[in-house]
Amino acid sequence: MTTSSTLPGLAGDGVSLDFAKLEKRFRVPAGKPLRLADHDPGWAGNGDIPEKERKEEARGLLATHVEALSQMQELLWASDTWSVLVIFQAMDAAGKDGAIKHVMSGVNPQGVEVTSFKQPSAEELDHTFLWRCMKRVPSRGQIGIFNRSYYEDVLVVRVHQHLLEAQRVPDVKPGRKLWESRYDDIVAFERHLARNGTAIVKFFLNVSREEQKRRFLSRIDEPSKHWKFSPSDVAERQHWDDYMNAYEEAISATSTDHAPWYVVPADKKWVSRAVVSAVLTETIRGLGLTWPKISAEQRQQIEEARRHLEAE
Ligand code: ATP
Ligand code: MG
Repeated sequence: MTTSSTLPGLAGDGVSLDFAKLEKRFRVPAGKPLRLADHDPGWAGNGDIPEKERKEEARGLLATHVEALSQMQELLWASDTWSVLVIFQAMDAAGKDGAIKHVMSGVNPQGVEVTSFKQPSAEELDHTFLWRCMKRVPSRGQIGIFNRSYYEDVLVVRVHQHLLEAQRVPDVKPGRKLWESRYDDIVAFERHLARNGTAIVKFFLNVSREEQKRRFLSRIDEPSKHWKFSPSDVAERQHWDDYMNAYEEAISATSTDHAPWYVVPADKKWVSRAVVSAVLTETIRGLGLTWPKISAEQRQQIEEARRHLEAE
């Protein structure tokens, strides 16, 4: 019988380039206020080692984790007990789409669902801010990815408080109490999911304002990237500090043992993809999944089936 211990080891163990133990390095400990000033978006491993070598190592890590995730997803499906919810939040052009594409590239598409949450529709606005996301949480055996999420309701809605009007919640007033009550609701919702078999991991792809500008300019300079460019993204940049404050508070209030946040350095895509893949692999490994046990009777039936087939 195969067990989870046959899955490949977490790459990063014992390597020389400072990429080891990525899971702990970027985790926001529960109950500890996050200070984004302490997190360098440009972190890229040990600067004493040539970038070429670090990049190669990060690509190797990603490849190993992509392979591990493929096997883990099969195990997740076979054991049919846990589901995994992965949440991505970030400023524009931080690389959410690329991280999802690369990290999940080895996983059977039947086992994954990606949902992107945009401005809410009229029907969504007629429900609570958690409703549209509740409908998309993964079922047992599946990995669900949220590209943006209910966190938008304490981020963009906090930065642009007029958006609250369209939500038409009775007697609601923007202010500390409102955001704290939403954090409470989110923590309770995630606790409910976790208690019922959904492992949750949340990534904030931490891109710097300078790197975002560089990426926007490269979208403008490159006609094949024009489809990715939206002039409103440039306007949104003007609210950078408000967004960073909203992220700091939201992450501080909602990073819990059952649904931790990871602040991922995102100025270099090869770093963010390696980190996301390592953390996700480690999260699923931590579930201690095992292949369903085959009973003596089932084994006998399998042997019988073999005899039938061979006798044909
Ligand atoms: P990309 O730009 O790479 O296609 P994206 O996630 O930025 O991906 P967009 O369609 O550009 O997708 O943007 C979605 C927008 O919807 C974001 O500006 C986000 O803040 C906004 N949004 C998401 N949820 C809400 C919400 N609950 N209330 C208001 N705005 C929201
Ligand atoms: Mg966008």
